[in-house]
Amino acid sequence: MAVWGGKLNTEGDGVRITVIGGGVVGLSAALRLAQRDHQVTVLSADPLAETTTTVAGGLIYPRHAEPADRVVRWTQVSVAEFHRLAEMPDTGVRFKPGTLLRRTERPLPPWMDAVGGMTRDASVSAPYADALRFTSPLVNTGRYVAWLDTELRRAGVGFERRAVRALSDVADDTDLVVNAAGLDAGRLAGDDTVRPARGQVVHVADPGLTEWIVDEDDFSYVLPHGEHVVCGGTEEFGEYSLDPDPGTTEDILRRCATLLPGIEKSEVLRVKVGLRPHRDEIRLDRDGDVIHCYGLGGVGVTLSWGCADEVADLAKR
Ligand SMILES: Cc1cc2nc3c(=O)[nH]c(=O)nc-3n(C[C@H](O)[C@H](O)[C@H](O)COP(=O)(O)OP(=O)(O)OC[C@H]3O[C@@H](n4cnc5c(N)ncnc54)[C@H](O)[C@@H]3O)c2cc1C
Repeated sequence: MAVWGGKLNTEGDGVRITVIGGGVVGLSAALRLAQRDHQVTVLSADPLAETTTTVAGGLIYPRHAEPADRVVRWTQVSVAEFHRLAEMPDTGVRFKPGTLLRRTERPLPPWMDAVGGMTRDASVSAPYADALRFTSPLVNTGRYVAWLDTELRRAGVGFERRAVRALSDVADDTDLVVNAAGLDAGRLAGDDTVRPARGQVVHVADPGLTEWIVDEDDFSYVLPHGEHVVCGGTEEFGEYSLDPDPGTTEDILRRCATLLPGIEKSEVLRVKVGLRPHRDEIRLDRDGDVIHCYGLGGVGVTLSWGCADEVADLAKR
């Protein structure tokens, strides 16, 4: 068993809580729980720097997520927290304006008030029918996870590198379990509705972009983080391979060059692949001594703080 950050956490006055999952969902929940004086330990099968979370482009944008009313609320909470974090150094969170392009005219998204300040750009031309402009948090997920790791240690959270075979594996050491194991959370819960939505992205050097741009229908996006730009993307349901596909890399760069001409001249730094934990509806509820929080698909960063607050509320006895 690999242990890092010392030992199981035995400090604090609250309930002993084991969070299974060291992605953005588990780490955010762990921080909120520790801030409410619980004794929190995070178990993660993977190093924190190698989860799906660190592949994410980091745009706060709750596309196609259900249940819609809860998603709007979780987005509001997250955006407010990201406003606070953007003021702090080292978090990797910055607010940037950008454009969401649509190829057909559709109603404005139900979450538009949660991100705030959305306007329609009338100057859009074919193949686009609509363009929504708003300023959103952009999270450099590599930096952000490193920052969360530091904050959690400061808050007294314990870490253990361990793959849990079943929820009952941890039952003896803890009062409450949070199941935030991403793609594996369904298996742990006996729920076969979680499946991968494979995503590949290409990081290129940032030529100094000040705005992000997304083609919502083509699934192409250019997300600048200063050190690098995340060019994407793909969404392949049921596909488990973590190997980058060279043909897909070329296709992503071609689509991004159409979206933002000139970006193809930037140096390619690396290619990353992650498996989004897709579920038709996000699960966040308490079943006895287990709080389930999984199935966040392509919106885990976006909804992380809203979900974390609700997990902390559910932990109250
Ligand atoms: C290409 C791509 C782009 C994306 N872009 C965005 C974006 O712009 N905005 C956005 O909001 N979201 C985005 N996402 C989605 C986002 O990455 C996910 O929603 C998010 O990472 C899910 O977080 P999670 O904590 O549930 O899962 P993960 O990050 O996968 O973490 C799961 C954790 O559980 C651990 N674990 C799994 N099984 C076990 C076990 N049996 N025992 C112990 N530990 C276990 C893992 O080791 C890991 O620590 C993107 C995803 C991809 C792939």
